[in-house]
Amino acid sequence: MFIAQVITLYPEMFPGPLGHSIAGRALREGRWRCDAIQMRDFATDRHRSVDDTPAGGGAGMVLRADVVARAVDHAAAAAPDLPVLALTPRGRPLSQARVRALAAGPGATLLCGRFEGFDQRLFEARAIEEVSIGDYILSGGEMGALVLLDACVRLLPGVMGAASSGDEESFESGLLEYPHYTRPAEWEGRTIPEVLRSGDHARIAAWRTSMAETDTRLRRPDLWERHEDARVPRPLARGDE
Ligand code: SAH
Repeated sequence: MFIAQVITLYPEMFPGPLGHSIAGRALREGRWRCDAIQMRDFATDRHRSVDDTPAGGGAGMVLRADVVARAVDHAAAAAPDLPVLALTPRGRPLSQARVRALAAGPGATLLCGRFEGFDQRLFEARAIEEVSIGDYILSGGEMGALVLLDACVRLLPGVMGAASSGDEESFESGLLEYPHYTRPAEWEGRTIPEVLRSGDHARIAAWRTSMAETDTRLRRPDLWERHEDARVPRPLARGDE
């Protein structure tokens, strides 16, 4: 079973939306587990404080390294095999490849930030992978943890209806997926591309590949460049080793 441990100030946010639909069914079937851990339980002062003002001044509050580390150590003792990931906009952007690797493993302990984030010494003192879910700022790591878990859970064995629908998806090949159509065959005067109704599977496959490539090139030049770099070994430029 895939084990998710989530360290958070808002344990009632879990499993939240992951209690529904595909992830919810998988949860009830025992394919994964979601254990929320209240970070505040690891505070030691009378006010159970988890944060303090930023060293050097400035707005907001910072999560204390000592309190958070106690929570992380508790989670690690409960499930020593799980990698620990902190949600932070300073982290490495989450990728489908990382999601796939996590889903193939025993689970993950996820650390959700709040306020201005974590005292940096936490990441020096503990083996914690910093991950971001994108270049925008959330009010807390909980939504990020839900995103990461949703992406992992759908890949667990037996979770997705059509087993094949994992492989063709956007990003799996380094490209966006081709566009989809369904009935009605005509809607507001618009028809479905003729090739998709031809029944010619080779032509359909070729059309889909070509659409995936065109759309990736136009919509995501960054992805397209990486895809091309991986495919066509570039001749060594002068000065390169
Ligand atoms: N001051 C920080 C932002 C703090 S937002 C900065 O500018 O970098 C508060 C918390 O929300 C963070 O600690 C983190 O856990 C979460 N969070 C915000 N944006 C995120 C993102 N893009 N990816 C992952 N977690 C994020």
